[in-house]
Amino acid sequence: MDIEVRTNYNAKNLTSFKISGQIERAYFPKSIEELIYLLKTLEAPIVLGNCSNVLISSYGYSGDVIFTQNCKKVLFNNTKVNAECGVKIQMASKLASEQNLSGFEFMIGFPASVGGAVYMNASANEQSISDRLISATVFDNENKSVMVLTKNDLQFDYRKSVCQLRNYTVLSAEFDLIKSDFSKIQEKMKKNLDFRRRHQPSLALPNCGSVFKNPQNNSAGRLLDLSGAKGLSYGGAKVWENHANFIINSDNAQSDDVLNLMLLMYNKVSENFDIKLKPEVIYIGNNSKEEEEIWKILKQK
Ligand SMILES: Cc1cc2nc3c(=O)[nH]c(=O)nc-3n(C[C@H](O)[C@H](O)[C@H](O)COP(=O)(O)OP(=O)(O)OC[C@H]3O[C@@H](n4cnc5c(N)ncnc54)[C@H](O)[C@@H]3O)c2cc1C
Repeated sequence: MDIEVRTNYNAKNLTSFKISGQIERAYFPKSIEELIYLLKTLEAPIVLGNCSNVLISSYGYSGDVIFTQNCKKVLFNNTKVNAECGVKIQMASKLASEQNLSGFEFMIGFPASVGGAVYMNASANEQSISDRLISATVFDNENKSVMVLTKNDLQFDYRKSVCQLRNYTVLSAEFDLIKSDFSKIQEKMKKNLDFRRRHQPSLALPNCGSVFKNPQNNSAGRLLDLSGAKGLSYGGAKVWENHANFIINSDNAQSDDVLNLMLLMYNKVSENFDIKLKPEVIYIGNNSKEEEEIWKILKQK
């Protein structure tokens, strides 16, 4: 197969954080067949969608990374939608609205791919990717086989799916949306966008969305705010002044600036509330001992 591969590829411009980080080998399959071929032949590749929830190390990543951005077919059949993993959810949301289909309005506001959103069970404004999902076709990286999983099989929970537990790659997902009025759908989308503009940084301020997950029955942003995290900074990374659970790459930040800042935030909440926040952002790197040590602290149970 003639699959695009680049060596020592700087992924900076693919990520929402806009932090430099070289990938030893980066693959860009154009179809699900090419993606399956890579998953079958490479040893333990990382699969990335729209890179809106990852921090790639400025020290680089030695290994294989598959970017799904070119697997972007989407098919509508009455109320059913089948989307390949690399489809951008904002695009899926727009296309669904043009077909007078409701269920994807929350997707208009953030930059995920369908595969990344299913893997993370992305949600916002009281809607989630799992609400209208019927099934997902996944690749089991242990058995090297393709399977179709129902919504039940996918074991969705807050920012969780079975794909994280079992090392499944999402190839595509099928949804059943609801017929509605174009104007009602547009109104909901506008409400979602207005909410975001008031509460979240735009991508003009490079960021990765929420840095930490909400602890059960609590809000990471509130805990960080009460702990005095707003305005903290480290190197080129700073905590957004309007919401303490966002880190902005404000001045050519490097990945270790972000990780050190995360550690400061984590320690503040730990000291003030005895709560260990868990990162929502995913770190990708294996060339810096210091970064790996910090990540180990942040990830510990
Ligand atoms: C400005 C901004 C706002 C955001 N707002 C929200 C929000 O409101 N709600 C929310 O839930 N999230 C939000 N996020 C976070 C992010 O968009 C979600 O976590 C999203 O689901 C990540 O999708 P992605 O395609 O960018 O994944 P990536 O960042 O590329 O990857 C994230 C993880 O998913 C895995 N992954 C990616 N594709 C696949 C695949 N095909 N199969 C298996 N695993 C895969 C990766 O290996 C990685 O572990 C926001 C981010 C930004 C930058």
